[in-house]
Amino acid sequence: MADNCILIRYGEIFLKGGNRSFFESLLKKNIKEALNGLKFELGLSRARYYVSGYGTDDENEILNRLKRVFGIHSLSVCGKIETDLEKISALLCERFDKSGRFRVSVNRADNKIKKSSTEIAGYLGAELLKARGDSISVDLKNFDYEINADIRENGYTYLFYEKIPGAGGLPVGSSGNGLLLLSGGIDSPVAGYMALRRGMRVHAAHFFSFPYTSVQAKEKAADLAKILRSYAAEPTLFFIMFTGIQEAIYEKCPNEYLITIMRRMMVRIADRLCAEHGFDAIITGENLGQVASQTIESLTSTGAVTDKPILRPLICFDKSEIIAAAKKIGTYDTSVLPFEDCCTVFLPKNPIIRPRLKAVEELEKALNVNELVEQAVSEMTEVVKI
Ligand code: ATP
Ligand code: MG
Repeated sequence: MADNCILIRYGEIFLKGGNRSFFESLLKKNIKEALNGLKFELGLSRARYYVSGYGTDDENEILNRLKRVFGIHSLSVCGKIETDLEKISALLCERFDKSGRFRVSVNRADNKIKKSSTEIAGYLGAELLKARGDSISVDLKNFDYEINADIRENGYTYLFYEKIPGAGGLPVGSSGNGLLLLSGGIDSPVAGYMALRRGMRVHAAHFFSFPYTSVQAKEKAADLAKILRSYAAEPTLFFIMFTGIQEAIYEKCPNEYLITIMRRMMVRIADRLCAEHGFDAIITGENLGQVASQTIESLTSTGAVTDKPILRPLICFDKSEIIAAAKKIGTYDTSVLPFEDCCTVFLPKNPIIRPRLKAVEELEKALNVNELVEQAVSEMTEVVKI
C-alpha cells in the first residue's frame, strides 16, 4: 500500500554551515506550529522534512499552511512506496494522470535495486508508456513533467512530479525580534511581511489619536496584524495613544515640522519599547521620496533618535511594486479601507521637505520630549497578544 507524504525542501538553510542545526530545529518548530490542530508526523532525513501520517482530506489544508512557513523553498506531494521496482512502477502508472511530454529522473541513495539510475528511469518510463498509450510521450529535454523517483536509504521510494514553490526566506525566529510601526496603510504591513520572511519575529506598534481617529482605524491595524500573524505565531501588538503628543506638537512647534517631529516621537516610543521588551530593531514602511516625510533628509532626522537599526524593507521599491506585494500577501483589501490615520488628521499644508537635523532638534526644545514619551508608554493599556 502506498502512503502519501509531503516533502519539504528548505533552500537557504543549507548555506548556514555550523548553524544548520539551529535553523533546522527552528524550522521544525515553526512547521509544527503551522500545522497545529491537525494529525501528522514530521520526519527529517538528509536535509529534507517529510510530513506523513495525515488524513487524505487534510492534504490541501496542510499544503496551504506550509506555503506560508518561511524557510521552506519548495514542497512536493509524494507517493511513498517500498523500494521494489514492480511496486514503484505500479504506483507510478496508477498515480500519474497527466498528458504530454515527460521524463523520469531517478535519485538513488541506496542500491537495493540492482540497476543504474538511468536503467531504472528507462524501465519506469517504458512501463508508463505501455500503460498510458498515446496520451504521453518521452522527451528528455523539452518535457512538460519531470517524474522524480527518489530512492531513499530508509527502504522507501518517493514519487512526485510537481514542485510547489514555498514562501522562501528564513525560519521566523532566526533573525531576532523587530518592532514594526504599523499604520493602517498599504506599505507598513508589506514591510512587516518582508522582515518576517527574513526570519525576524515581528511585533507591531500602532499609534492612534482618539477622538480624531475612529475605533475602526484601530481595528484595521489589528486586522492587518492578524494577517501578518497568519505567517508566524506569537507577535504582540501595542496600541499607543498619540493624541496628547500630537496636540503638544501642534501647539508648540511650527506647522511645517509637524510630521517630522511626530515621526521622531513615534521612533522614540518605539525605541523605548525595544529597550523594555528586548527587541533588536524598528521596522517601518518608509519609502525613499514617497512623501515629504520620507526624503533622505527626513529619514535622517527620524533615524537620529534611536540607536536601534531601523529596517526599511521598502526603501527603494516603486509604489506599484508595493501594491502588487500587498495583494499577493493578502493585506491590500484591508489597507485600502477608508479609515483615517493619526498622521493624516494632523497633516500640515506645507510640510518641510528637507528638514535639517539641527533645526528640528532646536524646535523640539519647546516640548518636554522625555515626559511625553514616558506618559505615552505608561498610559499604554492595550497590549494585545494576537
Ligand atoms: P503606510 O501607512 O502604509 O505605511 P504611507 O506611505 O502612508 O504608508 P506614512 O504615513 O508616511 O506612510 O508613514 C511612514 C511610516 O511610518 C509607515 O510605513 C509606518 O511604518 C509608520 N507609521 C505611520 N503612521 C503610523 C501609525 N499610526 N502607527 C504606527 N506606525 C505608523
Ligand atoms: Mg500611512
